[in-house]
Amino acid sequence: VSTFNDRTVAVFGLGASGLATVRALVDGGARVAAWDDSEQGREAAAQAGVPLVDLSTADWSEFAALVLAPGVPLTHPEPHWTVKAANAAGVDVIGDVELFFRERAAVCPAAPVIAITGTNGKSTTSALIAHVLRELGADVQLGGNIGRALLTLEPFSDKRVYVLELSSFQIDLAPSVRPTVAVLLNVSPDHIDRHGTVEHYADVKRRLVDAAETTAVIGIDDPWSADIARTLEARGGRVRRISVGERVGDGISASDGKLYENAPDEKEKPVADLDGIATLRGRHNWQNAAAAVAAVSALPKSVRGKGNIAAALRTFPGLAHRLEVVRRIGVVDFINDSKATNADSTEKALASFTGDIYWIAGGRPKSGGIKSLGYYFPRVTRAYLIGESMHEFGNTLIGKVDFERCGTLDVAVRRAAADAMAAGREGSVVLLSPACASFDQFRNFEVRGDAFKALVAELASEGAAS
Ligand code: ADP
Repeated sequence: VSTFNDRTVAVFGLGASGLATVRALVDGGARVAAWDDSEQGREAAAQAGVPLVDLSTADWSEFAALVLAPGVPLTHPEPHWTVKAANAAGVDVIGDVELFFRERAAVCPAAPVIAITGTNGKSTTSALIAHVLRELGADVQLGGNIGRALLTLEPFSDKRVYVLELSSFQIDLAPSVRPTVAVLLNVSPDHIDRHGTVEHYADVKRRLVDAAETTAVIGIDDPWSADIARTLEARGGRVRRISVGERVGDGISASDGKLYENAPDEKEKPVADLDGIATLRGRHNWQNAAAAVAAVSALPKSVRGKGNIAAALRTFPGLAHRLEVVRRIGVVDFINDSKATNADSTEKALASFTGDIYWIAGGRPKSGGIKSLGYYFPRVTRAYLIGESMHEFGNTLIGKVDFERCGTLDVAVRRAAADAMAAGREGSVVLLSPACASFDQFRNFEVRGDAFKALVAELASEGAAS
């Protein structure tokens, strides 16, 4: 990126995208003063030849900007002070998304960009959009929170589509964000720790869709998003609405696993059937799929390719750890939903299956535990509890759901598999959807999900051997 040619830029946070930022700035002729509050981060950077400068004692008058890496936790003191120092010195605080859009404006303003945000479903929808576009034959780059670090993507061209997953934090640090098509899936008063209030959080999301060059795709099933759609439309913006359950005037609605194109004066017209697509199970995924269809159709055919969007949905491989179908053994599907680290996510999982559910849950609990899931307990055939939350969850389930305390994941998988296979009912699932963080027993949710997959593979090979 060339916007800081000959000037010095401070970069805080030296993970993969921080390092990519440093490289892009240096390649564009800037000088860099980089820092990370962890020794590990600094070591990795030093090995990559990055010049380190302790930003807590630096002279801020030298710097043209401070670039914060996307994963920097502002709740920690050192990044927090660094931002304060930058603010006090009048130095712009930005992220790599800002650098990306400044560069696009400078070298190829017509490069098509679809940017996706929302409280839930960002990764799934971004991956789905990228998948559909690839199936249609488009040249696609997927980046941001998912896929590659933004500043390592292939060079801009007006035929190459950039699909970017953006968190509120990233949008907040990108005043120049200007996607061709913006997607706002939903707003819920989660994740407001960084933004103070849900109003501020919603306003950040609003900035993304307000900045859309051609089309804003907005899910209108929550009051904040509905308000954002209304005000943007009142200002003359092009809005395509998404709803699960309701007709939307202009946009795409979903009901009973089918997507319908809604035109202002026309009757609704079926555009896709999600029935039987295992990777798009559940009402929440209907919202994601509807948004993906609307976003892809908003691009001209010359960019997106001519193929059939509905057919492309059917081959979506899905994302690991989100209702991921690991394999079928006998009549039982093993489902890895390790990404479900709170009760809200697990609710989506329990609502997604109609057969018998053998549910593996637990870990480091969030406040409230699984009390909010009572409505779904009748769907659970038996629960297998693990981790720190084992006794608390057991107390919630007593008298409502059959359960056993298994302690660890390996015991739970064996017990659940044995019960499900002995019952032998078509459509049953062994579902890992913990409703808890993983940190009591695993490094992160990915490691937990991988452990589940390895245990299922073991079971399958034992079955094959016997
Ligand atoms: P994000 O990237 O926003 O964290 P993901 O696509 O990774 O979202 O999905 C994470 C979890 O959020 C899923 O396992 C599911 O439980 C839930 N989820 C996915 N899509 C939606 C949606 N549209 N609305 C509500 N919850 C969703």
